[in-house]
Amino acid sequence: MYSKEFIAEIPKTDLHLHLDGSLRLETLIDLAKTNKVDMPSYTVEGLREKVFKDHYDGLPDYLHGFMYTCAVLRDLENLERCSYELAQDNQREGVRYCEIRFAPQLHMDGKDLTMERVFEAVNKGLKHAQDEFNNRDEIKNGDEPPFHYGIIACAMRMFGRSSFSPYYTDLYGVHKYCKPMEVIKLGALELAKGVVAIRDKTGIPIVGFDLAGQEAGYPAGHFAEAYSFVHRNFMQKTVHAGEAYGAESIFQAIKDLHTDRIGHGYYLFDRDKVTDPDIEDKDAYIEGISGYIADRRITIEVCLTSNLQTNSMLTDIKQHSFKKMLDRRLSTTFCTDNRLISNTTVSKEIDLAVNNFDINAKALKNIIAYGFKRSFYHETYAEKRKYTRQAMTYYDKIAAKHGVK
Ligand SMILES: [Zn+2]
Repeated sequence: MYSKEFIAEIPKTDLHLHLDGSLRLETLIDLAKTNKVDMPSYTVEGLREKVFKDHYDGLPDYLHGFMYTCAVLRDLENLERCSYELAQDNQREGVRYCEIRFAPQLHMDGKDLTMERVFEAVNKGLKHAQDEFNNRDEIKNGDEPPFHYGIIACAMRMFGRSSFSPYYTDLYGVHKYCKPMEVIKLGALELAKGVVAIRDKTGIPIVGFDLAGQEAGYPAGHFAEAYSFVHRNFMQKTVHAGEAYGAESIFQAIKDLHTDRIGHGYYLFDRDKVTDPDIEDKDAYIEGISGYIADRRITIEVCLTSNLQTNSMLTDIKQHSFKKMLDRRLSTTFCTDNRLISNTTVSKEIDLAVNNFDINAKALKNIIAYGFKRSFYHETYAEKRKYTRQAMTYYDKIAAKHGVK
């Protein structure tokens, strides 16, 4: 029903995209060699076999590759190069708007690599790719929608005393009498204050705040103070939730962290994941929350391939809770999560979805539109409406060309 050419040509978004999980493999090899980073292989085939695989043995195996990407990304030039290439890779498959997220504190060294410099380097790379793309005639004369981006800062739900980054190690070092969870909360609060200050001082489009990393054992509620700070400063919010926990964790992100979107939300409908003994009717609770999410248009950032790779229970994509999200008319958007680690693109994600779920032309157009409508686009609301309308008018043109209706 939908050809690969159609999917490639329509204007798309990616609202859930980790910089450190989305390097070009060739670039990683190049940077690992120049920066003397130990890797189990230095060839594309070798790394695809040993690290960046099609199938993983659970989450720790999936997360293994970040060790290498983060090691090369503790360098300003490398951060700029990888950001530039990531924006280009998106442009080449028809993504017109993306939000790139990363945890700046993972890239800081406690010395010259400050939070501000890390953001400046990433922004420089993204802006360079944006300016090049938007300088083309078809963009300048208004025939096609331009490329834009936003940056999302991730606080880490969990970081250890060593091996995460020199910055985090220092943070533990100067808080000798705090418990680990207290240091983690402080790290998130410091990031919240940093991103608001840097956004206001530099104008870098830091548009959102996120909570990433291991969910199990680190509930969202711990991060209420950091989220409250960015909320009071009109920064938008998203939370990785419902990856390990279920509906309660998703609701906590909404009520305690004021979240505007949900990353994954995979276990939203899972009865077994509702554990509060006070909840007597689990089905009613789940329907209550999903009704609330649908009504408020709290958008779920759906990452199909990534979920397939990290949930061993999920063997057939048709069993993915995305079907229930569609049935309940939730606002959803297709995202890659990690282009390198999941070996995917937005086009591949859309292709996977339309081949496994019942998505008619109107429903597909709606999902694509939500990516623009529920983005954290950094200009005014009026500008965002205008940009969304331009993108969707172009979508209609491509649909007509391919006879999709
Ligand atoms: Zn993610």
